[in-house]
Amino acid sequence: MLHISLKMKTLKTICSFFAFSIVFIACGQNNEVVIKTNKLSKNIYMLEGQGGNIGVSVGEDGVLMIDSQFARLTPKILAAIKNISKKDIKFLVNTHHHGDHTGGNANISKTGTHIMAHDNVYKRVKANDNQLDKSLPIITFNNKLSIHINGEQVLIFHVENAHTDGDAMLYFTESNILHTGDTYFNERYPYIDLNSGGSIDGYINAVKSALILIDDNTKIIPGHGKLSNKKEYQFFLSMLENLKTLVLDEIDSEKTEDEVANNTSLTKKYDDLNYSWNFITSKKIRRTFYRSLKEK
Ligand SMILES: [Zn+2]
Repeated sequence: MLHISLKMKTLKTICSFFAFSIVFIACGQNNEVVIKTNKLSKNIYMLEGQGGNIGVSVGEDGVLMIDSQFARLTPKILAAIKNISKKDIKFLVNTHHHGDHTGGNANISKTGTHIMAHDNVYKRVKANDNQLDKSLPIITFNNKLSIHINGEQVLIFHVENAHTDGDAMLYFTESNILHTGDTYFNERYPYIDLNSGGSIDGYINAVKSALILIDDNTKIIPGHGKLSNKKEYQFFLSMLENLKTLVLDEIDSEKTEDEVANNTSLTKKYDDLNYSWNFITSKKIRRTFYRSLKEK
């Protein structure tokens, strides 16, 4: 009996070990990044993978791509784009310099693509990147620029000191689709990079200037999060304005940065909507608002 039960126990252990291994392998595969392609109009797509959402325009003139995520994802991203269009990628526009939007630049420029971005993106990529030339935008602009491609005018416009000091948004005038770059984190607290020229006021102004351009039918590709629309972007703006008012009141009452950072009541409404996430927790967003608004 004893002998048998021991054997049974050993067998169970082995089984659970294998079961664990299989689950582990399965989980590992699930964690691998899959590039998801969403068709937004007859010629515009949104690609989701890891990092900033990618916008793609396809058509007779070739491919226009917005942002490049991380270098290790380039083969998958190029494969996803090849599934939509056999044409070359003519232009890659970076919405700003962060690595989750420009990491694939060097790989993609090697295919003959021209990279475009705001002047400050050039400066910051040049300062950060070891691969230098291949990652750099070769066409830069200061304020705005249009690309006429695939049957429509694509407005590219800079917004000052918002998420960074080099942000650009893109509006597809015929398709009525807006790519916000990181001036929009859908259903979560935004990252506002104060160390790279970002600011609360600039961020709020950026959202307002984009809202002027669009209407109720506009599809919005946010920098992060799922596909969105004007109504949701307006709600995001109301959150920013609401938090600004609350934190300014705290500053007026001479609260310290730590007091504001620890005051969970300020963000409760949005914490309840699960806007806090691993990178930008509610404590971090309170601190960001304090630091940016206190500077003024
Ligand atoms: Zn960013």
